[in-house]
Amino acid sequence: MHARCHSALPRLLLALALLGSYLAVQAPPGRAQPVLTVTTTIGLFADFARQVGGSRVEVLQLLGDGVDPHGYQMTPGDLVNINRSQVLLYNGLGFEPFLSQVLQAVAPAVTRVALAEGLPTLTVDSVPDPHLWLDPQLAQRYVERIRDVLSAQDPEGAEEYRANAERYLAELQALDQEIAALVAQIPPEQRKLLTTHNAFAYFARRYGFEVIGAVLSAEAHEPSPSELIALIRQARSAGVRALFVEPQFDTRQAAQLVEQANLRVVPLYSDALPPDGSIQGYIAMMRANATNIVSALR
Ligand SMILES: [Zn+2]
Repeated sequence: MHARCHSALPRLLLALALLGSYLAVQAPPGRAQPVLTVTTTIGLFADFARQVGGSRVEVLQLLGDGVDPHGYQMTPGDLVNINRSQVLLYNGLGFEPFLSQVLQAVAPAVTRVALAEGLPTLTVDSVPDPHLWLDPQLAQRYVERIRDVLSAQDPEGAEEYRANAERYLAELQALDQEIAALVAQIPPEQRKLLTTHNAFAYFARRYGFEVIGAVLSAEAHEPSPSELIALIRQARSAGVRALFVEPQFDTRQAAQLVEQANLRVVPLYSDALPPDGSIQGYIAMMRANATNIVSALR
């Protein structure tokens, strides 16, 4: 008995010391533990949430890099992640068809925010184009919405979210100017985009491009052989120089187009970052897009 009491204290101290070092790893000095958990669909929205949430928010993302949201199938683990979050951030406007089947299974306590819904949309292939974030000015509307929902969920963090959002919004404003300056190097008559999927209407409107066509529709449906032939004809007559391909799509259809219309193939990113991790976050992605477009069309 005496021996047991004697040995219990050091063991307790050791346990406390281990717990202390565990907590130190979890929360570095001066940084708060996350107070909110937010789940997003794509990595770009996770980046926005991290920029605004800082250390107060744990951010989970459902889709990995290089994954196509238009064709994604949910896993049971996705629903677990959503249900342990206070907030679910998604685009809406039909961008994430996989969500429509599970939204009724999402716990009522999870606040759902469709980042693009309610903003003025452009129509592509007879439906609203959901890819608003590819215009950095509209991406700022997403960031403001994220700031507002985080502040409503965690009023104590509101000042931090406001400050983080203000800094990031300024970076997005600077990015917009940077892209405009890059694009100015392309003669206006050469500002023509032919892409894998029809996602660039907002980008095109903002920077004075004409979208000549896309191999896949805005909802990523594959073209029929006759549609593909029409696209090749269109590309030739418009004098298009390049086909912009996105990593989340199969490019076999595009290969036929490239061969027959004699096009350069240039990577471009829209819904998903490259799976090799070579481009991190929204700003780096948009900068890579602008640089690639300029080098192909100048
Ligand atoms: Zn898309």
